[in-house]
Parts: sequence; C-alpha cells; structure tokens
Amino acid sequence: MVAGNWKMNTTPTEGKALVKAVMDKVPNPSTKVVFGVPAIQLMEIQELVKGHPNYAVAAQNMHQEESGAYTGELSAAMLVDAGIEYVILGHSERRDYAGEDDDLINLKINQALKHGLKPIYCCGEKLDIRQAGNQEVVVGRQIEQALSSLEADQLSQVVIAYEPVWAIGTGVTASNEQAQQMHANIRRMITNQFGSEVANNLTILYGGSVKPNNAAELFAEPDVDGGLVGGASLDADSFAAIINAVR
Ligand code: PEP
Repeated sequence: MVAGNWKMNTTPTEGKALVKAVMDKVPNPSTKVVFGVPAIQLMEIQELVKGHPNYAVAAQNMHQEESGAYTGELSAAMLVDAGIEYVILGHSERRDYAGEDDDLINLKINQALKHGLKPIYCCGEKLDIRQAGNQEVVVGRQIEQALSSLEADQLSQVVIAYEPVWAIGTGVTASNEQAQQMHANIRRMITNQFGSEVANNLTILYGGSVKPNNAAELFAEPDVDGGLVGGASLDADSFAAIINAVR
C-alpha cells in the first residue's frame, strides 16, 4: 500500500487536479493507493476514485463518539456513509498538537472498526527516544495500548504505519535497516498478541521523508509493506514514482 497524507494542504480545486494527475500517470497501480485528504475534500475525491479497485480515500482524523455535541468533528458513520474506506489515526501531529494519546486512539480505532472503517494507525518514537536506544520499548507500548482489546479478526482491517517522528517532514529518512528492524519487531509483537497468520497478513507501512529516490529500497525490505507519504504525496510526479516503486 502507498498512502498519501496531504495534511492541511491543497484547496479542493488543487486536490481534484492532484488526484486526476496521479490517476492519469498510474491508471492501474499494482498496489492499493490511498489519498488522505482534508475533510472538506473527502466526498469529492471519493467520487473521483469510486469504482477503481486500487484507489481509495482516507480521512485524516475521526471522533471516537457515535454523534453529538462535538463541534467541528466527523463521526465514523459520516465517513462510511460518504464511501470513505480508511481513516488515519494517531498521527504524530495530532499527538503533538491535539494532545491525542494511545488510550484515546484506542477508542477511535474501536469506533472506526465498529463501523467497518479501516484505521491506518500511526506510531513512532521521537528523536530523544531513538538517541537513548529506547525506540522498541516506546513503540511497543504505543502498539500495545492502541490495539489493546482488539480481536484477532479485527486486526485484518488495521494498517500500521511506523513513522519515526524525527523523520517526518525533516528530509531525514530512517535507514532501510532501521525501518526493517522496527517493522520486524512490530510484526513479532503482533504475532505474540494475535498469532502468526494475522501478523503475516498485516500491512505495515513506513512513513518519514519517503521520496522517489528512497522508496524502492525501503519497500524492498521484507517487513516494509509500503509507505505513508507526506510531502511527496503533494506532487503528482513524485507520488506516482513512489507508487511505481512498489513491487
Ligand atoms: C507524514 O506526515 O505522515 C509523513 C510521513 O510526512 P513526510 O513524508 O513529509 O515526512
């Protein structure tokens, strides 16, 4: 899978043009391609990808409650009714700027799954944690908390994105070895918790300065099943090249 996270970028006019350009360049991707678009564009972009087997849309966030007095929020039911297939949850920017923690993200993941929406769950350590060599403990704790209470069959609907925070938007990418090591560790954890069948079928994306010039190498690692792409997903040529880097 290759998922783009546009964050708070592109107007609706620009968003439509970007999706059309990517779909023109890669009409038949060999992998699932997901556009993580701003809320205001969800329905329009969904119309553009509708009926295509390998293109889908993700919301960038979702509220954990069913409905009610939560001004400015979107519910899982709204997203599903609009035809949206995925929701990005737990992105480091939401952890940092909106104070989201793994207990809250756990509620959101459960709520998404209850409605048949597939979460793309983001985890990853900050620089000081990596420098202290504690990344596996910290990411392990994030995963344990966020996925606690899920059943094995629900895991088949979850995508995990490992995004070291120090690599997001910085131009610094984790080395192939660093990515592979963490992905293998995540798969091991999922094996222990949910069994090897679930773990082997799990999609684990790498995110953090994925670009056309490093995507193929990262995706060639045995436990890296694709990428969650920020900056480079805003440029049709770059995003198309990253999609084509999946083998
Ligand atoms: C992201 O925000 O999920 C991300 C990976 O961003 P970038 O590719 O720009 O580092």
